[in-house]
Amino acid sequence: MGPVHPESPARLWAINDQLIASRLETVLQHYDAPAATREQLERVHDPAYVSLIFRSSPQEGRIALDPETLMNPYTLRAALHAAGAAVLAVDLVMRAEAGAAFCSVRPPGHHAERRRAMGGCLFNNVAVGAAHAMAARGIERVAIVDFDVHHGNGTEDIFRSEPRVLFCSAFQHPCYPYSGAETKSDHIVNIPLPAGTQSAAYRDAVQNRWLPALASFRPQLVLFSAGFDAHHEDDIGQMGLDETDYFWMTKQVKAIADRHAQGRIVSVLEGGYSLHALGRSVVAHLKALIGSPTA
Ligand SMILES: [Zn+2]
Repeated sequence: MGPVHPESPARLWAINDQLIASRLETVLQHYDAPAATREQLERVHDPAYVSLIFRSSPQEGRIALDPETLMNPYTLRAALHAAGAAVLAVDLVMRAEAGAAFCSVRPPGHHAERRRAMGGCLFNNVAVGAAHAMAARGIERVAIVDFDVHHGNGTEDIFRSEPRVLFCSAFQHPCYPYSGAETKSDHIVNIPLPAGTQSAAYRDAVQNRWLPALASFRPQLVLFSAGFDAHHEDDIGQMGLDETDYFWMTKQVKAIADRHAQGRIVSVLEGGYSLHALGRSVVAHLKALIGSPTA
């Protein structure tokens, strides 16, 4: 994304560092992400848009798809593998080869709409995973829980008319991308929250809005759009969460997945730009996913 952009390779190095420091590394199994196929991408993106992304990939230097979304010669490959990670993760949990799977990937995906790259996102990784679960794995109810500090406008755009997907997004508002606060839908549960929202108010919102909606939807698979930029150390937003909130929230949602979805959870990394907070938050999220009693 350019030398000074916060969406940088250092994010994944920071996560790896904390996985080692926390010793979680020893209980995890790693997989290489395959590239998503055109067929998998075109379940959620317009074929003409997918072609545009392939055509736009530069031989050298950088091109801008939008002010926040640049491509260098390696971006297309990374984006294909980021989306493919969500597909593999869905397959792993559906085959019960993994209880839960976390996709440590970039570029992120939840701002990418059906026909538009946006906010650093080319392909909507979590949507590609959800569509794969429905098209190839016979899943009829998928919940996507998006706790990134930014509204998951792309996921909402893609699944606006798809009642098999329950989309839950909590986000700072007003804030980029300035959408989601007005949405009216029986399968989209948006929670716009003012800047400065702290842990207690955030947890209340999750408890009162998301958990009842998730419980009555009875998802057969749960996906997380896991952005950690609502952390109080993250300057990209002005929210007051810390890693214990991510642990708590993951645990609450996991209980619903355990009840209705045989515990099947796929989590896909979105934002999170304060490197140390990002690493610690991912560790807390994964500890909840593997059923650890404490963060
Ligand atoms: Zn974000």
